[in-house]
Amino acid sequence: MLIDAHVHVWIREMIPNWFLRSMAWREARKELPFGTVEEWLEKSRPQYWDPGAERWLKVMEDCGIDACVNVPNDLGGAEGFAGDEAPMSIKEINQEYCEWAKRLKGKFYTFIGVNPLRGKAAVELLEKGVKQWGARGLKLLPHTGFYPSDRICYPLYEKCAELGVPVNIHTGAGTFRYSKYAHPIHLEQPAMDFRRDLEFIAAHAGGGIGELWEEMCTVARYVPNINLELAQVAPTVIRGGFRGNKGKYKDHIPQFIDMLDIMRNMLIGGCANIIFGTDMPTYPVEVLKEWCDLFKNLPAIAAQYGYDFSQEEVDLMCYRNAARIIKLDLDEIKKAGQK
Ligand SMILES: [Zn+2]
Repeated sequence: MLIDAHVHVWIREMIPNWFLRSMAWREARKELPFGTVEEWLEKSRPQYWDPGAERWLKVMEDCGIDACVNVPNDLGGAEGFAGDEAPMSIKEINQEYCEWAKRLKGKFYTFIGVNPLRGKAAVELLEKGVKQWGARGLKLLPHTGFYPSDRICYPLYEKCAELGVPVNIHTGAGTFRYSKYAHPIHLEQPAMDFRRDLEFIAAHAGGGIGELWEEMCTVARYVPNINLELAQVAPTVIRGGFRGNKGKYKDHIPQFIDMLDIMRNMLIGGCANIIFGTDMPTYPVEVLKEWCDLFKNLPAIAAQYGYDFSQEEVDLMCYRNAARIIKLDLDEIKKAGQK
């Protein structure tokens, strides 16, 4: 079984203008001669919009992903863009996702994504989302202007602990505002402060090869309620991941298996602290396919390079940890897969 603990499914009305412009800016700068933001605003949009997650469900089926967890980013009112909100309110966005999750029981689960800078309203939305709408946890995106160690986040952590749900926090670089907020070190203090009653999921594990995964390991090494989640690591491993599979780039599979070996060795729980994820739809489906195949065949592939990964360890990373930490019912997922 394969559970993807980190995906995004968007419709246009969920995205504020600043973020559309920031995506278009990067698209425009990919190849010479550089284009303009205005040109790319039109070109770069439609591939992302997926009302009701229909396109994504088909991709899941093709790649053998049994269930996924949507981790919404609250992009409204990011630092430097006060008042720039999506056409849908943050409440409407989260409610919409929860309705999809109800309809797609056993296939699609969702967290509540809300910015702690929204104050009391954020805590109320989290509580309503979990208690009344069936959401499974909280997603925080520090890039928008806060450190996870900031006191402003603590009422949300307290609420998560009370509700018995985990918090997923983006770590490392990202196509948002400022990555300084998302350095792994800022997870240490809240994870220690809530060590008795809250599981932290470090989205992206600080970032994959060439990024901050080593800093992430340093932080999580003695803090076992920090779990390293591997979404968005795929493009650093599978050739051409960031640019599409153009053939001239190399795979970094041996390096990744070495990285995974170091991670499981450093973390107190070993593979019990590592969670599979993808961050789709932010890279091409052919990269995703190879990423899923790598995990499904990990014991055999790792053995080719002299590493010993047991099926038990692979099962932990691929679905058992997600099921335990996010409290997903494996029977419900199996049943949905038989339909
Ligand atoms: Zn993400």
